[in-house]
Amino acid sequence: MENYLLYINGEFRESEDKQTFDAVNPANGEVIAKISSATVKDADAAVDAARKAFDSGVWSNLPGEERSRIIKQIVDKINENAKKLTELEVLDSGSTIRKAGEDVFLSAKSLNFFSKMASVDLNEDIAGLSKEGVSKNILRREPLGVCALITPWNFPLKMAIWKLGPALAAGNTVVLKPAMETSVTACELARIISETDMPKGVVNIITGPGSIIGTELVKNPKVDKVGFTGSTEVGKIIMRNAADNLKKITLECGGKSANIVLDDADMEMSVDGAIYAGFYHQGQCCEGGTRLLVHEKIYDEFTKKLKEKIEKMTIGDPMDKKTEVGPIINEKQFNIIMDYIKTGKEEGAEILTGGNKVGDKGYFIEPTVFVNCNNKMKISQEEIFGPVVVLIKFKDEDEAVEIANDSIYGLGGAVWSGSDERALKIAKRLRTGTVWINEYHLLSDRAPFGGYKQSGIGREFGMDGLKEYTETKHIHIDEIKDRTKKFWYGTVVPKD
Ligand code: NAD
Repeated sequence: MENYLLYINGEFRESEDKQTFDAVNPANGEVIAKISSATVKDADAAVDAARKAFDSGVWSNLPGEERSRIIKQIVDKINENAKKLTELEVLDSGSTIRKAGEDVFLSAKSLNFFSKMASVDLNEDIAGLSKEGVSKNILRREPLGVCALITPWNFPLKMAIWKLGPALAAGNTVVLKPAMETSVTACELARIISETDMPKGVVNIITGPGSIIGTELVKNPKVDKVGFTGSTEVGKIIMRNAADNLKKITLECGGKSANIVLDDADMEMSVDGAIYAGFYHQGQCCEGGTRLLVHEKIYDEFTKKLKEKIEKMTIGDPMDKKTEVGPIINEKQFNIIMDYIKTGKEEGAEILTGGNKVGDKGYFIEPTVFVNCNNKMKISQEEIFGPVVVLIKFKDEDEAVEIANDSIYGLGGAVWSGSDERALKIAKRLRTGTVWINEYHLLSDRAPFGGYKQSGIGREFGMDGLKEYTETKHIHIDEIKDRTKKFWYGTVVPKD
């Protein structure tokens, strides 16, 4: 069995107190690896290594092309190890092999995008500001320094890459801390990075409890920025803990996105789309379409087809290529979801399909749809983070928009319609970071992703995502060399 170590300052080492934790396969409860559990001292050592590497300029002072070349080495090694990484992701996270395969492919693709961005000159010249108009003004985009990157368990490798890519491209040094539930591929990433020309100390990867080492990373004054993806609850704690030294933060948090099906939507496509939106990765997706809003005119036919199709889904071994629904990440999350199903029934919602545990091994739950719901119910307002969709009927577009926006979250959402024009009008009214029209989940390296309201702060991906890992500096060079020049201590005096 693999025993994964911490990766600090280019070296693999045990945690200071030699403690480990188990990586467990959610499909059968078997232990698949032992992982070092870092202490606060280890977290500080990782930050010190990143600080030293940043301050030495060993990474930030490299020409962008050189940073690009080294990041590309990681991309190539992810691709070379794609099969192994995919299988480990399945064993560690319960992702179906199709989802895990796609995650690994997209991780390499996103990192490749950021390797290219590393060589893009983001500095700009702006128009003269001097009164005589003879100054030169430069806007520089400089790295922030040391970034603590804290990631969740639902897209383990992909979330790590989404943060590492822009942070490294912009010239920062990092300490990555993956979720304890799914640390294996981050540990493999450490091994991959150790085989590249990445200078030591630039990337440090530590594993262990968020409440202890995550807190330390967020509070450590030598850290300049925290890039976090996870629950809104922990996002708020991070915001508070980062406040003491006013660290920069990017928070990608929870969601309860509305998936709106209009009366002119293609029936087959929108039913398939609703299933994909709500049940991809067993509903453990922050942007998932977990509130399904269906126009009253098509409601009966839609619900009938939805039930039929869901009941044909293949639930089981995530390593099997035919499997569409794998296990929930762990027992704790399984119990939370089953409690929500109970709450839904108590609130008066009815189960259209699903609602039950599947099998005796692992943590499998049937894809579940509640009908007869209203948007005030707990199951409609709270993020369940499992295969549970609430279906709400609406009578017109205004009502659909009102329901969609009646949420503390604003991360994703979709409109299904035969008319792009009609859908676009609704998309513009939704208070959410991404809206798909006749599509779901699809993200682009070039399009920023992030949340309105309590779904987060800041954006990932694209130029906006890269800029989140930079500080802007304005340099003003006054080109009047005349030493008799007068300075202006204010020239506008109000008239009497
Ligand atoms: P979580 O908030 O429990 O944990 C996320 C990470 O934070 C983990 O690495 C954890 O160890 C760490 N952590 C926990 N307590 C901490 C603390 N006090 N200080 C610092 N770090 C701490 O989230 P999770 O259960 O791993 O993931 C599920 C959540 O993530 C869902 O709410 C989901 O919506 C959200 N998510 C959001 C996005 C997005 O892009 N918006 C993407 C994926 C997941």
